[in-house]
Amino acid sequence: MIVVAAGKDRPPEELRAAISAGIHHIGENYVQEAEKKKAVILEPVTWHMIGRLQKNKANKAAILFDWVQTVDSLELARKLSSAAARAGKILPVLIQVNIGREPQKAGVLPEEVLPLAQAIQDLPYLELRGLMAIPPAPEKPEDSRPYFRAMRKLFDELRAEGFPLDTLSMGMSADWEVAIEEGATMIRLGTALFGPRPSP
Ligand SMILES: *Cc1c(COP(=O)(O)O)cnc(C)c1O
Repeated sequence: MIVVAAGKDRPPEELRAAISAGIHHIGENYVQEAEKKKAVILEPVTWHMIGRLQKNKANKAAILFDWVQTVDSLELARKLSSAAARAGKILPVLIQVNIGREPQKAGVLPEEVLPLAQAIQDLPYLELRGLMAIPPAPEKPEDSRPYFRAMRKLFDELRAEGFPLDTLSMGMSADWEVAIEEGATMIRLGTALFGPRPSP
C-alpha cells in the first residue's frame, strides 16, 4: 500500500515531519505550491500531481512532478507527453475517473476510460499506470464503497484488455479503509496525517 501525503496548504515543515515518520510520496494540487515546496524539501520523495491540471501548466507539471494522477483528456495527455519528451523522461500517469458522474468534478466518465487508455498507450513518453478517483464526498465511509467497487471493476477490465496497470489511487481520510478493502493500491491522506486543514 502506498500512502501519498496530500500536502495542500501544509507548510514544508509539516511535510518534512511526515517524511521523517516514513512518508515517501507527496501529492500536491497546484503547480506553484509544489514548485515552492520542492525548492525546500530536498529529501528523496516521489511527487504526485493530484489536483486539476490546466493545459497551459502541463509543461511545468511534467518537469516538476514524478507522477501525474489527474489526466482527464487526450489533449492534456499529448501535452504532457511532449513535455516529458523535452524533459528527457517517461512520466507515469493515472487517468482520473469521475466515478460519481458529478458535473462539477474533473475526470473522464467511466465509458470514456478505455478509449483514453488506448490513446495514451500510443504516447511514447507517458506510462499509463492506472486509475484515480475522488468519489462524491461521503457522509459515512460506507457511502464510498459502491464507487470504489466500480473503480476496481474498471481497473480489472483494463487489465483484462492487456493494459499493464498496477495502481489504483482511491481513498482519502474519510474512507481509506473501505478503499483498501475494495482494492486500492494507493491512498491519499491529508487530514488523517496532518489534522484539520488550516483555513486560508
Ligand atoms: C486534499 C486531497 C486529498 C486528501 O484529502 P483528506 O480528506 O484531507 O484526506 C486527497 N486527494 C486529493 C485529490 C485531494 O485534493
